[in-house]
Amino acid sequence: MKIDNHVHTHYCPHGSNEKMEKYVKKAIELGIDKITFTEHAPLPILDTVPDKDSAMNEKDVYEYLKEAKGLKAKYRHKIEINAGFEIDYIEGYEQETRLFLEKYPETIENSILSVHFLKLPDETYFCIDYSKESFIQKGEEIGYHMLYSIYEKTVLKALSNPYGPITPKKIGHINLIHKFEKSYQYKDMIDWVKLLKLAKKNGYILDYNFAGIDKEFYGKTYPNQMILDKAKNLNLKLEIGSDAHKPEEVGRYFIERED
Ligand SMILES: [Zn+2]
Ligand SMILES: [Zn+2]
Repeated sequence: MKIDNHVHTHYCPHGSNEKMEKYVKKAIELGIDKITFTEHAPLPILDTVPDKDSAMNEKDVYEYLKEAKGLKAKYRHKIEINAGFEIDYIEGYEQETRLFLEKYPETIENSILSVHFLKLPDETYFCIDYSKESFIQKGEEIGYHMLYSIYEKTVLKALSNPYGPITPKKIGHINLIHKFEKSYQYKDMIDWVKLLKLAKKNGYILDYNFAGIDKEFYGKTYPNQMILDKAKNLNLKLEIGSDAHKPEEVGRYFIERED
């Protein structure tokens, strides 16, 4: 069975403006049996990136879910379509995020929990995947070791059922901190096995994300091969996703490898 369980839409401002139906048509064309839309849920904090375009607007949530439902019905004989969210785990905003999830319980099993924002010691939030320049600037300012350690601690929290029984148990691109790794010198000290063991213990699965291959300063899947091997040793379950932000990215790099 061919699956793409990580797909974005025009509801987040940094994606393409193409209609959701175009993603569905692309998936059908590729022979995909199931896709899951996982739009960036509205942020409980003020978006810290300069363009303020990290996530969808709260007022669009209803339309997004409705549109997905309509497509699900329309294409039910050709492809299975589900909708959830890519939820940001944001330290200190667990209560707000839990309230959001409580409003849409039917989406939880289709959702991904990702860490894009770190709470820094000065209480500000930093988006780790916005740009190489901002990452390097922060790394030089507080030290790469500090940045990586905060990332590790934040992912540990995300893997600890931060919203209780309604926590989405799929961790998005677990090593997103590596996105710009080719552009600076630092030896990663994160205890990946510890993170993976916690994921296993708490029943999480891993988002096996192919977007990283297209990233200039990374060029691999998330997780990378080293983490994948460790995850396999622990029998962790993985779910493939393109993290498509345009229709033509649906199924990128993995469709031809599967049957
Ligand atoms: Zn996105
Ligand atoms: Zn995503």
